Amino acid sequence: MWTKHPPNCMSERESKPRGPYDELRAELRETDLFASIGAVLSWDQETMLPDRGTGLRAEQLALLSQVVHERRTSERFGALLAESEADESLRDDELARANLREIRRSYDQAIKLPSSLVREIAETTTLSIHAWRGAREKSDFSAFAPWLEKVVGLDRAKAECLATEDAPDLYDALLDQYEPGADTAELVAVFTDLRKRLAPLIHDVTGAARQRSDRVHRIEVPIEAQKAFNAKVAARVGFDFEAGRLDTSTHPFCQGVGPGDTRLTTRYREDGFFDALSSTLHETGHGLYEQGLPKDRYLGEPLGDPVSLGIHESQSRLWENLVGRSREFWKWALPEAQREFSPALDDVALEEVYGAMNLVQPNLIRVDSDEATYNLHIMLRFDLERAMLSGDLAVADLPAAWNDRIKTDLGLDVPDDRRGCLQDVHWSMGSIGYFPTYTLGNLYAAQLWLRIQSDLPDLPDSIAAGDFTPLLAWLRREIHVHGRRYTAPELCERATGAPLSADAFMNSLEGKLRPLYAA
Ligand code: ZN
Repeated sequence: MWTKHPPNCMSERESKPRGPYDELRAELRETDLFASIGAVLSWDQETMLPDRGTGLRAEQLALLSQVVHERRTSERFGALLAESEADESLRDDELARANLREIRRSYDQAIKLPSSLVREIAETTTLSIHAWRGAREKSDFSAFAPWLEKVVGLDRAKAECLATEDAPDLYDALLDQYEPGADTAELVAVFTDLRKRLAPLIHDVTGAARQRSDRVHRIEVPIEAQKAFNAKVAARVGFDFEAGRLDTSTHPFCQGVGPGDTRLTTRYREDGFFDALSSTLHETGHGLYEQGLPKDRYLGEPLGDPVSLGIHESQSRLWENLVGRSREFWKWALPEAQREFSPALDDVALEEVYGAMNLVQPNLIRVDSDEATYNLHIMLRFDLERAMLSGDLAVADLPAAWNDRIKTDLGLDVPDDRRGCLQDVHWSMGSIGYFPTYTLGNLYAAQLWLRIQSDLPDLPDSIAAGDFTPLLAWLRREIHVHGRRYTAPELCERATGAPLSADAFMNSLEGKLRPLYAA
């Protein structure tokens, strides 16, 4: 027979009075159980949910968001937080102080949002995602426009609640939800530096006399065989399949449900083996971070949570780009793949794969873009979403503004909105302020990589031998284990010895691409 709480354990618990900080932690843990139910429902919505189940799912998620929000903003919770902050016995407990600093931060933001607004956002965005999906399929912007109007309006209402007299900028208020402490002016400065070096590099490389072959991107490999191989690589780099899954979805993602449950998805095409593996490595990077966070000890507490989306994305980009597009990785992975898929890849050489994994070719689609042009996609979205939020750009004018920018920045003509402003899910989710974290992730990843290379001089050899344990151990120690103990800029300084800049990213990209495209 199995009982949850053996009687002796219960009495022991009851006999020991708990302070406000313990009660606060217990409250956070319980609230997180509700939030994790929402995470399972969201995963299901992306992978399994029948079309007609959308209405019910919208109501379920809306109710859960409201419950979570009300628990996080209750009077009792506020009182426990204040008592914990005043608790002298915690004054020298550095972990508790960091935890309380972040709990306070989240609480002060949450109480600014009326629970009716939180509920309305959850319900509207679930329906809006569904509408976006249909509109995107038919490339019919007019079917999505009314939803986008609503969602931008809700984002604006939310930003107005969150903005303060000291920090009145509406976009900053939204950005802060994804990248705590970041602000628009700082991003504009980093992005301007980045563009200054990126634009000439892209120009030189795309105009170079020597171009790399994309033949390998047309080789067909049966999807079932790819699935087995992708799972094998995810496990090899360290993803724990007893505490996670890898499934298929149209848009790959990673959902951290809780300790012991991290869910990844990827996507396959017969002629897309190399793309699928990139996307699997990307999501696995997110998954390794989720599995490395100390959630067992700190469920629902900041100490068990990811720092920011930029740091989360740095983990995925590091595995996708810095590992997965390196010569060393393919020294190990190509013979493995050749054995698995024989004879499909028999005549493929290491240099051919390396060149094809590092092709630079402006693409209409963000998620299919190379490491260099990708960031131009982000800057474009960053500018357009700020303009929509401020009202400078009317939703109805979005397709024209989008198409103009794609022409100016990438030199491409957008043939339809499906491959234009309807390609991403984010705006339908009300996630204005999310996009810049992708580029921050690229920059953080490159800066971490520089430090990793000096800390682990044998890394190229171990990657070429298919041994990823030293790299994962470094990430666990320097990034994962800390949860939100440090802010993103602090974590960056601690791990790399310098504040974030575009230099490491540009140096690494130029160092790789210029020789690849040299005559
Ligand atoms: Zn990602």
